[in-house]
Amino acid sequence: MTKDIKTDVLIIGSGPAGYTAAIYAARANLKPHIVSGLEPGGQLTITTDVENYPGYENVIQGPWLMQQMKEQAIKVGTEFHNDIVADVNFDKKPFFASTDGGLIFQAKTIIITTGAQARWLNIESENKYKGFGISACATCDGFFFKDQEIAVIGGGNSAVEEALFLTKFASKVTLIHRRDQLRAEKILQERLFNNPKIQVLWNKKVLSFEGNENPLALNKIKLEDTINKSHTELKISGAFIAIGHDPATSLFKNKIKMDKDNYIITKPDSTETSIKGVFAAGDVKDKIFRQAVTAAGMGCMAALEAEKYIAELDN
Ligand code: NAP
Repeated sequence: MTKDIKTDVLIIGSGPAGYTAAIYAARANLKPHIVSGLEPGGQLTITTDVENYPGYENVIQGPWLMQQMKEQAIKVGTEFHNDIVADVNFDKKPFFASTDGGLIFQAKTIIITTGAQARWLNIESENKYKGFGISACATCDGFFFKDQEIAVIGGGNSAVEEALFLTKFASKVTLIHRRDQLRAEKILQERLFNNPKIQVLWNKKVLSFEGNENPLALNKIKLEDTINKSHTELKISGAFIAIGHDPATSLFKNKIKMDKDNYIITKPDSTETSIKGVFAAGDVKDKIFRQAVTAAGMGCMAALEAEKYIAELDN
């Protein structure tokens, strides 16, 4: 069964950007609707300790923080749908969006906050130690590895930046790359090679992650040399996977302007996309900062810009 919904603001995606947009839009009396997406709450629901979200003296848990944001958004007047947007049409005004669950939206504005997902190696042992030594976010989790030996996997800007950042905490950082050349910018490579705390292992592929069972804790990586196929082990207590992120933008392909990596392009100092009335906030448009707090800030901007756009439409 389908259900038609007319709204001023439709928010697609329920991470910090989406919920913040919802809170601001609801408080502007725009009665926003938010459609959660496949992973309600976004990337923070798969992290554990959060120490850098302002306002909390003590460590909080990612899933808890997202639940709080959701409850706050609902309390101030957001309608929440645990559903997945399957199609959008930005050619029509009001904009059209339909969901797997049969909702048909006509929306004066749409705020896209579908986020991005860290790429993982997708090996079985990686899943086992995620949150128990394996992370995809050095800014979030680096602090937990003070004076320990850790590894970063990848060879792009993210991997090199994460390795450099992690030297603030770790006693030693080993960058593991599958080729003999980095993809990262030269200036970052120079900093990496000049840092005495960093060693690079070239031509190495991760075979498995291993560690203690009780309590679950990573303590080594088994590696294979991609040239001579020999196997080695590296003792570490943390591993950061930094092999890229993919923005969740397939739904918007050919409907809105994106860059070569499929991130949505917005105007400088704005969340306005190539379509007037459609805004984008958070990791779906940001490949540099990727923080909950920056995503939340952009969600706020998007709601304020949507409010202004609607006021001009209605005049
Ligand atoms: P990226 O440039 O795509 O690099 C990914 C790296 O991971 C590559 O070195 C790749 O190896 C490796 N990799 C990919 N899949 C792998 C796998 N399955 N196993 C092992 N290694 C794997 O990703 P990124 O570093 O996240 O950067 C993404 C975009 O954001 C880029 O455009 C980057 O310039 C930008 N960025 C910019 C900044 C900045 O300006 N400060 C910071 C971060 C990111 P190969 O080299 O062999 O392909």
